[in-house]
This record gives sequence, C-alpha cells and structure tokens, in this order.
Amino acid sequence: MAQFKNRVTRLFNIDYPIIQAGMIWTSGWRLASAVSNAGGLGLIGSGSMYPDVLKEHIRKCKTATSFPFGVNVPLLYPDIDKHIQIIIEEGVKIVFTSAGNPKTWTGILKEHGITVVHVVSSSRFAMKAQDAGCDAVVAEGFEAAGHNGREETTTMVLVPAVANTVSVPVIAAGGIATGRQMLAAMVMGAEGVQIGTRFAASEEASSHINFKNALIHSKEGDTVLTLKQLVPVRLIKNKFYQQVKEAEDRGASVEELRSILGRARAKKGIFEGDLDEGELEIGEVSAIIHDILPAAEIVKNVWKEFMDGLSDPVKKL
Ligand code: NDP
Repeated sequence: MAQFKNRVTRLFNIDYPIIQAGMIWTSGWRLASAVSNAGGLGLIGSGSMYPDVLKEHIRKCKTATSFPFGVNVPLLYPDIDKHIQIIIEEGVKIVFTSAGNPKTWTGILKEHGITVVHVVSSSRFAMKAQDAGCDAVVAEGFEAAGHNGREETTTMVLVPAVANTVSVPVIAAGGIATGRQMLAAMVMGAEGVQIGTRFAASEEASSHINFKNALIHSKEGDTVLTLKQLVPVRLIKNKFYQQVKEAEDRGASVEELRSILGRARAKKGIFEGDLDEGELEIGEVSAIIHDILPAAEIVKNVWKEFMDGLSDPVKKL
C-alpha cells in the first residue's frame, strides 16, 4: 500500500492517518499493537484498567510492536495521577486525553516529550485544547459510542466547524468505519480519523463475544445517547436502557438514575457479555458493520477504500 504523508502521519510517525479509538474493556495491548503493526495508530484504553493492569498492557504492547502506539486516558478516571505517572515512567510517547479539562495534564505530559491529543465535542473545547498546548484534536460527533457531547453535534457539522476554528490538525471521529466515510471526513477538513466501533468488532478486541455479536447484528436506530443528566453515553437499547428510560420518563432524580446505573455496568456488558443488564457502548455506525475481522484487515480495507475513493470520489449518472 502506498504511503501517505500529512500532518497526522508525521505527528505520530505512522503510515496511514487511521487511529484506533481507546475503548474501555475493548482496546488492550492486543488490539493496539495489531493496529500499530498494520500501519495505523493503536491506543490502549486505560479507563477500565487499574494502574498495575495499565502498566502490564503498556509493557506487552512494547513487546508486541516496534511501531508507535499510544494510551487513551479519560480524565475523569479516579486514579488519574497514577496512570499519568506510569505513562511517563514507561516512556509512552503518545497520549489521547478525553472527558475532562485538557489544561490539567497537557503541560506535564508535554514536559516529558509526550505528544498530546484531546478529544472534543465542540469548537469551543477544541480551542481550549489548542490553547492548553495539545498537538491535535479529535472532533468526535454525536454518532460515537460511549461518552459523548451533550450538544449532540453530528460529525458532519462538527468536523468542518472545528477545522475552521483551530490550526492544529483535526482527527474526525464518530460514525466512521469505512474508507469512503474517511474520505468524506478528510474532504471536510480532517487530516485523520479515529475509529472505534469498527475495531470493537475485531478479533483482537478484548470485549466479550456476546458484545461483538450484538454489535454486528444491530441495526439503524438500535443505539441511543442516554443518561444525559449523569455523563451522556451512547449504547444499545437493551433491558438496562429501558429501565433508565422508564425512570427518566417519570422524572427520576439524578440520585435515582445514579443508583439505577450502579457500578461497573460497562464491564458487565462489554467484558462479561451480559446483554440485558450491562451497558453496551456501541456507536451508530454498527448498523453498517456485519463481521468480526482481524484488526490488520480492517486497516487494509479502510485504506484501500479511501484510496480508491480518492481517484473516483463521486457517483455519476
Ligand atoms: P464505574 O464507576 O461504574 O465502575 C468502575 C469500573 O472501572 C469497574 O468496572 C472497575 O473494575 C474499573 N476500574 C478500573 N480502575 C479503577 C479504579 N482505579 N478505581 C475504580 N474502578 C476502576 O465506571 P464505568 O465502568 O462507567 O467507567 C470506568 C472508567 O472508564 C471510568 O473511570 C471512566 O473514566 C472510564 N470511561 C468510561 C466510559 C463510559 O462510557 N462508561 C467511556 C470512557 C471512559 P472492577 O469492576 O474490576 O473493579
């Protein structure tokens, strides 16, 4: 496959501007190293890992790939300072932060020579991330799985808005699983894409097979952005979601919603495969994903379709 050079491939020293999203209970060292070995950028999702587990995943990833990889750190993680310390001690070169204020950690990470990218859901936050010293931003739209912006700005609107606001490179995320979707995002001003749900349906993803099967069988309209009074999250409409909806419809308090959510719902759904009681964090794009593939094949397919699309981008009569 031909090499492609732009600001994103140069920033991370990778072949293709395809980044695998950090996903709790899903993207450990196996997935991250497979994506990096295929020429993209793999990210270890640290949000569901205790500090010693994160350390082990970083070490295994270093053994499994000689190519660049990174760690995604959700800033609302309870032991965030321990995660940051491990990342610095282990010599991780790339960190993607999300769900929090980029001002808190960006400076410290950059002092240690780490490339920092922050995930945003609005132009205002993109500007904040740039001002905090981030090297790039991920503009993640409404279609994305997991934690998401309250304002519900779609990828189609968010990407050009952010690209017109900041001067650092913009990586598009939310609803992207194919090369043609990647091409559309790049035409709108992105210089790379971050892909989550497509990689969750990979052989190397550590999520439970029940979860992967639910993903590849879900249809348009099967996911929803919910729990906006707590932290908004996109998930599959299952029994747990119906419980949340019933409570929200009758005006339940934030405390009651918190007690319905309880603890470790994401682990139950994604890692343990409980399709009724678990939180099944899946993006809208699952509607067009129908198979579980090796991560390297996903990278190859996306890139080939992107390059084919570049030479023949628009359907003609
Ligand atoms: P909960 O508070 O419901 O549960 C905590 C979960 O995180 C448990 O499953 C626990 O594992 C695991 N965990 C890992 N490290 C720690 C730690 N140091 N202290 C406590 N628990 C830890 O949170 P969620 O499951 O919703 O989210 C877990 C983390 O993932 C959060 O910190 C959040 O930052 C992050 N995250 C969540 C997303 C989401 O959409 N839910 C999206 C992105 C990131 P165990 O059960 O083995 O104790």
